[in-house]
Amino acid sequence: MARLGMVIDTAKCVGCSDCVVACKAENGVPAGFFRDWLTESLRGRFPTPHLELRSERCNHCDDPPCVTCCPTGASHVHPWGGVILVDHDACVGCKACIASCPYNARFLHPEGYADKCTFCIHRVEKGQDPACVSVCPTRCMYFGDLDDPESEVSKLLASRRSHVLLPEAGTGPRVIYLTA
Ligand code: SF4
Ligand code: SF4
Repeated sequence: MARLGMVIDTAKCVGCSDCVVACKAENGVPAGFFRDWLTESLRGRFPTPHLELRSERCNHCDDPPCVTCCPTGASHVHPWGGVILVDHDACVGCKACIASCPYNARFLHPEGYADKCTFCIHRVEKGQDPACVSVCPTRCMYFGDLDDPESEVSKLLASRRSHVLLPEAGTGPRVIYLTA
């Protein structure tokens, strides 16, 4: 099974929010909610600190607390690629997954189910990149199999320094940031 993940080059992100707009349009995300978003934080140390711009979303964790805490099995690991998904029909809207996610990646959809990034699995199954990846004007996002040493994402990770968000949470994030 592939282990799908995203590699984002923070040196190339200009904070334009095209990824956020594309996600909302592609997935019909309701007004006031977001499946991806932009943040900025200060990284590095004196004398070379820098402002890191990041496009963030569900990390599709290797060890996802949102799946283990779900009482109905609605939150699950997709058998193809290990993408973390929510079965809307099986979700009872208890919000346990929302509380368990260290990344605040989930929200309760107005229709009553937990919602979040799906890595645009409906596009990926057709051989397309997630919408955010496909529209980025600086091409700062890459998507592929983290377990395939020949994939573009693996080669990038082998050639650059990288970091994940909140590694201390122990969830094994599969959205990985190339350090500027
Ligand atoms: Fe679950 Fe949050 Fe990890 Fe996504 S980022 S897989 S919602 S724990
Ligand atoms: Fe599972 Fe839905 Fe409850 Fe989340 S809100 S834990 S997906 S039943």
